Amino acid sequence: MTEIPKITLHSGKDQSPKRFHPWIFSGAVKKAPENIKNGDVVEVYSSKDEYLGTGHYQKGSIMIRLFSFEKIVPDASFWKSKIQHAFNYRKAIRLTNDANTNVYRLVYGEGDGLPGLVVDYYNGTAVIQAHSIGMYRERFQIADVLKEIYGEQLKAIYDKSKESLGVSINKLSTENGENAEVQNSYLYGSGGEKQVIENGHKLHIDWEEGQKTGFFIDQRENRSLVAQYASGKKVLDCFCYAGGFSVYALKAGAIEVHSVDSSKGAIKLTDANVALNFGQDTRQTSFLADAFDYLSNNPSKYDMMIIDPPAFAKHRDARHQAVTGYKRLNALAIKGIKPGGIIFTFSCSQVVDKYLFHGAITAAAIEAGRNVRILEYLSQPADHPISIYHPEGEYLKGMILYIE
Ligand code: SAH
Repeated sequence: MTEIPKITLHSGKDQSPKRFHPWIFSGAVKKAPENIKNGDVVEVYSSKDEYLGTGHYQKGSIMIRLFSFEKIVPDASFWKSKIQHAFNYRKAIRLTNDANTNVYRLVYGEGDGLPGLVVDYYNGTAVIQAHSIGMYRERFQIADVLKEIYGEQLKAIYDKSKESLGVSINKLSTENGENAEVQNSYLYGSGGEKQVIENGHKLHIDWEEGQKTGFFIDQRENRSLVAQYASGKKVLDCFCYAGGFSVYALKAGAIEVHSVDSSKGAIKLTDANVALNFGQDTRQTSFLADAFDYLSNNPSKYDMMIIDPPAFAKHRDARHQAVTGYKRLNALAIKGIKPGGIIFTFSCSQVVDKYLFHGAITAAAIEAGRNVRILEYLSQPADHPISIYHPEGEYLKGMILYIE
């Protein structure tokens, strides 16, 4: 067996891996072998030559993503045990064998001790998304493990890493002497059933053409909460994408649902999902529009609003602008909703934490000049677990507001 390349950290930089934090920043690295390549598996040692962990190397601010804090050989049986743990956890939270839900996240990166890897399960199809070159290289081993764990139940595996690896991948792989361009493709099977059920709601999911891995699985529990409030309400589902919130609201007895998104594909998907559950339902209408414009032009119509925008900030330097965006958007919603109205508002920007988001909503309430109560704080569901050692894994937060 070839030896695993060794990385040595500067003195004092061993505290973070000793506390099981999976990221080693470039500034902590004292010594790395000269021939090290992006995506290589490396072992990390302290300045006193103590073993700290094993992970994937990739040039950049986060230089090593640790997937083990015990000395291991990253072979098929290692990946099997990691992914089996992730599966067992989903089983424990009752997602793997639920007659009413056959869509869930099987692997959520650092939250599952697998930094750089996301795997979503869609009714017999696994969609893999690598966020690091190292995990991208492991994709065939991971596909084999998925087949082993699911057996007959798994009909297809789709690799959708092109978007998540970003534009830099082709440059990086050239540096590695690999010229292959990253393309999304099936690693196993082809196609598969593109319809899932979530809490008994039917949903058409398109992992090939859709955003992210195809669906925003992370809002499952918040969609159920929307259902609890929607009966008899006129509801606005703003940034509707696949129309999940709209479908839940209709099923729960909303009297009218308007779904707004600026993407044609999203509107098509929403219409398809409404039709799939209710046929021609005259209670629902979709609007292809910018949400800010729509909210400005349509005040005082709704008893309930869902505001679920895309991440306004993907990086720290965009944080201020993002907070301004959340404030402006929520001020429009709070100003516009009917007295006694309910707003579900969300942020999925990892760099805007719950305190900052809370601040933006407070500022929006002050600007709107209305009395606002907080009914509940919302978060991401348990199939998007946050490791206690990696608080950065928390990204989705929301609030239910009552507006007088
Ligand atoms: N609520 C959805 C997920 C929303 S994702 C669900 O539960 O599935 C964010 C959506 O916002 C995307 O569909 C994107 O097309 C849309 N979007 C982005 N910018 C927008 C804008 N300015 N106005 C309206 N929609 C926008």
